[in-house]
Amino acid sequence: MLLPEPQAQSRPAIQFGDVRLSREALWGAATAVADEVAGAGMVALHATASPATVVGMVGCLIAGVPVVPVPADAGSHERHHVLTDSGARLWLGEPVDAVDLPVVPIDLGGRSSASHPEPDPDSTALVMYTSGTTGAPKGAVHSRRALAAGLDGLADAWRWTPEDVLVHGLPLFHVHGLILGVLGALRVGSPLIHTVRPRPENYAAAAAAGGTLFFGVPTIWSRIGQDAASAEALRGARLLVSGSAPLPVPDAERLRALTGQAPVERYGMTETLITVAMRAEGERRVGWVGTPIAGVETCLRGERGEPVPADGQSVGELHVRGATLFQGYLGRPEATAECFTGDGWFRTGDAAVVDADGWHRIVGRQSVDIIKTGGYKVGAGEVEAALLSYPGVAEAAVVGAPDADLGQRIVAYLVGDPGLDPAAVIDFVASQLSAHKRPREVRIVESLPRNAMGKVQKKALASGTA
Ligand code: ATP
Ligand code: MG
Repeated sequence: MLLPEPQAQSRPAIQFGDVRLSREALWGAATAVADEVAGAGMVALHATASPATVVGMVGCLIAGVPVVPVPADAGSHERHHVLTDSGARLWLGEPVDAVDLPVVPIDLGGRSSASHPEPDPDSTALVMYTSGTTGAPKGAVHSRRALAAGLDGLADAWRWTPEDVLVHGLPLFHVHGLILGVLGALRVGSPLIHTVRPRPENYAAAAAAGGTLFFGVPTIWSRIGQDAASAEALRGARLLVSGSAPLPVPDAERLRALTGQAPVERYGMTETLITVAMRAEGERRVGWVGTPIAGVETCLRGERGEPVPADGQSVGELHVRGATLFQGYLGRPEATAECFTGDGWFRTGDAAVVDADGWHRIVGRQSVDIIKTGGYKVGAGEVEAALLSYPGVAEAAVVGAPDADLGQRIVAYLVGDPGLDPAAVIDFVASQLSAHKRPREVRIVESLPRNAMGKVQKKALASGTA
């Protein structure tokens, strides 16, 4: 069973702002949704940051119909892509203009106790679209079995129990917020406080209301690190967790100083759910993401598929195998075939280093973060780390811009003090790293282009379209 049946609980199962639902009320409303969507085929869930999204998601799981969460803030173009690509037959949630599907509304007060047979564990539970950082978003198909394996791996890694209260303010149309956050809490049986908006003061207020386990993307952790009062409120938290994008080392260190702990970092993908994570107990090695969770194996391979040693230095493409893997991209047999090796490993497209203890460090995406300049390969992350150690630099993104002479030219985009002097910044990096790693160009910008999960849109930066 993916989600255990409700048991009497004194605390609300979910809370969004002032709206609270007990587990019984949630199941009653979700079963009413299940009655409506049973047998419908693919269901599009309007995934706003609201209790209705949780009710809709649980309803589809009870009914055993595949669900595709549609980004609430998606422009009509992205929504159209997800709806047509997935072949959704029903729209679940608040109606939206220009969506031409039968609508099933979600009633938080709905009540049904109809019994739905437990679906086959190998049936499709979810089609989750990737973030679209490297191309058009692709629908990753997940079985109930894979979701259950991923959630159990996390609960084990983080010693997540019903005594915990999970807090997050993440969107509910990606794996992080909806699957790990919402379904993780419901599977473990720990209450969820969703802060609706991911603001430092909301995380602080949720800590005061009993939150013990906090999920966030690096952007929120960085903001909390700039807000000493909110950070101080998290001092008693059991665990702070960061993922979806790299957590800059200075941000992790600032949080360690202010809250008494560096966040537990974890790495995953829409296709693999959670792959590698730091444990609740044990080392917090800032700049690294931990070791594979239970049921997951990884290896590093080179460009021709040759093994790359786990020596703490050699960079290879991270490959993943195990129970949390997706079944393929919906309707894209070629893309699916391309990302699996002949011997069943999934190629993540991320470059990584693994040490002898099995600890992983993510170097970046092979397509954008490994810059090929003048015959050298330079990892954007190493240059970004050097830039972040320069006084006055708050955020840094390094990309390879096309260059007639070098192939790619290293360009750094910085957010920070308006008085930053690009020439001085370049000299500083040259004093820290080998000469070929220094940016040829530094551009001071007001903000970096990021998506809803705080991922920097580097493709757009590199092509100059951001
Ligand atoms: P698309 O596949 O459509 O280009 P995407 O890869 O950004 O988009 P997601 O599946 O949401 O879509 O993101 C997975 C990626 O996020 C990983 O491949 C990795 O590059 C990055 N990532 C996730 N967690 C971490 C982390 N802790 N540190 C560094 N990178 C991370
Ligand atoms: Mg991806």
